[in-house]
Amino acid sequence: MLYTAFLLVFAALKNGRKTTFRVKILIAFFPVLSGLVMLVQFYASDVLLTGTAALGSLILMFLFIGTDIVDIDSDTGFYGSRSFTEAVSKRLQKNSEFCCVLLFIDNTQELKDTFGRQKHRQVITLAAAAIESVMPRVPGFRYSDSKFIFIFDKKQAADIGEIISGIDDTLSKEYTFENIPVNYSVSIAAVNCPEQADTAEQLAELLEYSALQAKNSKNSNIFYCDDNAIKHIRRKKEITDILKRELNSDENNFEVFYQPIYEVLGRRFRTAEALVRLNKTEIGPIYPDEFIPIAEEMGLIVRLGDIVLEKSCRFISELIKDNIDFDAISVNFSVHQIMRNDIVEKVTETVRKYNIPPEKLRIEITESVIIDNFQHVKRMMNTLGDIGIKFYMDDFGTGYSNLSNMIELPFEYLKIDKSLVHSAEKSEKAYFILTFISQAFIKQNIKILTEGVETEAQEKIVDMIGASYIQGYRFARPVNGETAKEYFLGIRNDAC
Ligand code: C2E
Ligand code: CA
Ligand code: CA
Repeated sequence: MLYTAFLLVFAALKNGRKTTFRVKILIAFFPVLSGLVMLVQFYASDVLLTGTAALGSLILMFLFIGTDIVDIDSDTGFYGSRSFTEAVSKRLQKNSEFCCVLLFIDNTQELKDTFGRQKHRQVITLAAAAIESVMPRVPGFRYSDSKFIFIFDKKQAADIGEIISGIDDTLSKEYTFENIPVNYSVSIAAVNCPEQADTAEQLAELLEYSALQAKNSKNSNIFYCDDNAIKHIRRKKEITDILKRELNSDENNFEVFYQPIYEVLGRRFRTAEALVRLNKTEIGPIYPDEFIPIAEEMGLIVRLGDIVLEKSCRFISELIKDNIDFDAISVNFSVHQIMRNDIVEKVTETVRKYNIPPEKLRIEITESVIIDNFQHVKRMMNTLGDIGIKFYMDDFGTGYSNLSNMIELPFEYLKIDKSLVHSAEKSEKAYFILTFISQAFIKQNIKILTEGVETEAQEKIVDMIGASYIQGYRFARPVNGETAKEYFLGIRNDAC
């Protein structure tokens, strides 16, 4: 009994602030329990209680602390993310006021590249120890690989500014690991509860968003959650709800528009890009730049992608039925769509359902998708390529392309992002680089398509770099299916 008590107190002293409320209760309860056992033993000396007492205390210990032990991060000794959600939910239920501070080591990838995956863990442990040395005794959680969260109660929250700048100063120092200098880049976010967030889910979203604001800000790496951040999260929630509702409705309001693409040599429009629209909602039109990333994050993009693919294939079958001369319609595929195991079946099934030649459908894939999933993308492209589907490499110039990888993939077209075209207009250096890259791809039999051509000056640049296709407001805006037909028929041509 005494031995168990000793172990508990020792564990509590060793773990310091990480000692949970449950363990503290157990320690406080121990003298009472021991007293009771001694009393019974005193009056009933013929009954031997040692075994029962030992078993009882072990069961108690297991029941009280067994589940807590599991959720401790072995690298840093902080609690895990599950404990964070539990701790926050409890505080919110009790209506207590507190402040959460998220610490994001935002150069984790760089650290991984320098130290390797395994040693990088020790580098993070080093950071955690540095944080702990300046942090007051408050509950700390390792929320993800590179994110730590601390909970301050209302009294401590008054000094939050000072505490945060203390942590910031500590992590701004240069550390060394195995004689290699380590520099941490840190973004810090603070959210007050329940004033700014009254559910654990909302709090997590606000912390993540605020940390990103801190990371992207040029002025400060510390961001205190404000009304704009709250509005942003609310709008995101609103859009998520609308997307879910629309995706569950048979008569959804998603429309697919088509932006005709100009063929330089033929001086006409023979292809178009399918672009999804959500114009009819209670909060007005929502643009894809806003709802596509939300659909991706919320796991809704696969269903949305199916709708766009379905509508585009139906449009292709309509064009064929109307005897309209055109080459193809291209559809954007996002990473989650491409990563699904049945992607090949899904595409072939839809093409078959609408009885369209596979050559009439093209797929646009962005560079970022390829970087992380090279082998999978390669397999998919080869299988679909075998049945005649062609591919565009989309948004070229916005990511960090691995050119040797890209050349290995069977792309027929390269879509140069509008940002490259626009910077080529302003800088001679950018213009030369763009020309050089385009020529290299043309030599590999990859055709160049330039996006976002709005002005005459940009059109001239596009001409000089040898692009075969032009997509941009100067030539045609995204339009509904009926108007797109007029571009294919040559009835409409904004370029002339
Ligand atoms: P994106 O794939 O790069 O599509 C081209 C975007 O550039 C379209 O924006 C188009 O309207 C716009 N654009 C075309 N010409 C010009 C121009 O001359 N100037 C400027 N400033 N912009 C031009 P949109 O339709 O708002 O779509 C934005 C993005 O949303 C798309 O960029 C694409 O990444 C995504 N998206 C749109 N529809 C879908 C879809 O069905 N599935 C997926 N996964 N993503 C989609
Ligand atoms: Ca695209
Ligand atoms: Ca693009």
